Amino acid sequence: MRPLIAGNWKMNGLAASLGEIESVARIVAASPPNADILICPPATLITRAIAAAGARIAIGGQDCHAEASGAFTGDISAEMLKDAGASAVIVGHSERRQYHGETDAIVAAKAQAAWRAGLLAIICVGETEAERNAGNALEVVARQIAGSLPEGAAADATAIAYEPVWAIGTGRTPTTAEITQMHAHIRECLIGRAGKEGARMRILYGGSVKPSNAREILGIAEVGGALVGGASLKASDFHAIFSAAAATV
Ligand code: PEP
Repeated sequence: MRPLIAGNWKMNGLAASLGEIESVARIVAASPPNADILICPPATLITRAIAAAGARIAIGGQDCHAEASGAFTGDISAEMLKDAGASAVIVGHSERRQYHGETDAIVAAKAQAAWRAGLLAIICVGETEAERNAGNALEVVARQIAGSLPEGAAADATAIAYEPVWAIGTGRTPTTAEITQMHAHIRECLIGRAGKEGARMRILYGGSVKPSNAREILGIAEVGGALVGGASLKASDFHAIFSAAAATV
């Protein structure tokens, strides 16, 4: 499968930021990358982002509710994202787990909602620094996959994003050896849980991916793309990252 380079804008972006998406669209139209490109802006920008993005860039949501509709003030369902034109949604980002108390069971329900609506579910997992220092990173991630990836996952409708919590927005990344070990471990967990589909499912790395480290990270075995936060906000940085993906395949 082609690598997937996904940008997570988090709670950043007003109408003025759509120019960054237009710039990415121009770059991609001039020189189509050998990677799938996805940008997940805030929900308020999804419709306008789709207009700015053109056909070669997909637009996604950053979260969804597990229910299709109902009395859940402030929430957005997967069906609403689909209706707005999104084709993917991030679920279980560590900021949702940390600040909104999302458990593995909640994340699994959201992943199921994404599939129900016809969206690609990008399911995030990753250990905290304390868990890594205690030697528990592999075990924590295996547990999160067991709890957050519902039965019956299809590779085309699912991606796993390994995002060590301590690497998000800090400028720190695991070593190549640590990423290699974790991604191989995740692959084993996915095969155990979803068989042939688990063998094909993309495993993204996320956490301080930037132009200067993208080539090395994206060249690691079993790294099927990246989930990029801060560096996805500027077209030039994001471009440098997805060109690095193209160069490795
Ligand atoms: C993220 O929020 O998913 C992320 C990886 O952020 P950053 O790239 O800024 O570390």
